[in-house]
Amino acid sequence: MENNNNFDSSANTDMIEFLDCGDVVARFGDYVDNDLLRVERLAVESHLNDCPECAAFLASYNHVIDSAAELREPEEPISVDVQNRLRKALNQRLGLNLTYIA
Ligand SMILES: [Zn+2]
Repeated sequence: MENNNNFDSSANTDMIEFLDCGDVVARFGDYVDNDLLRVERLAVESHLNDCPECAAFLASYNHVIDSAAELREPEEPISVDVQNRLRKALNQRLGLNLTYIA
């Protein structure tokens, strides 16, 4: 979808003031596909700058995409420790009930 607009980004920031982790995670697919509106992309990037959990989650998400695209095994799987930290963070922030990896 093309959405050309001539407003500068600061004029659009009131459209999406803040994205929480759930909002950001929900947009990862479109973000990776470069399919977000400019204001959404900026909001996601702003959140990623402030949120190590989502940044790490996006990194793992991209890794999965890359691995799938290349049809080969991931060279460096996300460690169990990192996965559990992500799960804990997502559980706390999103109210999910992800099971920790033993
Ligand atoms: Zn976050």
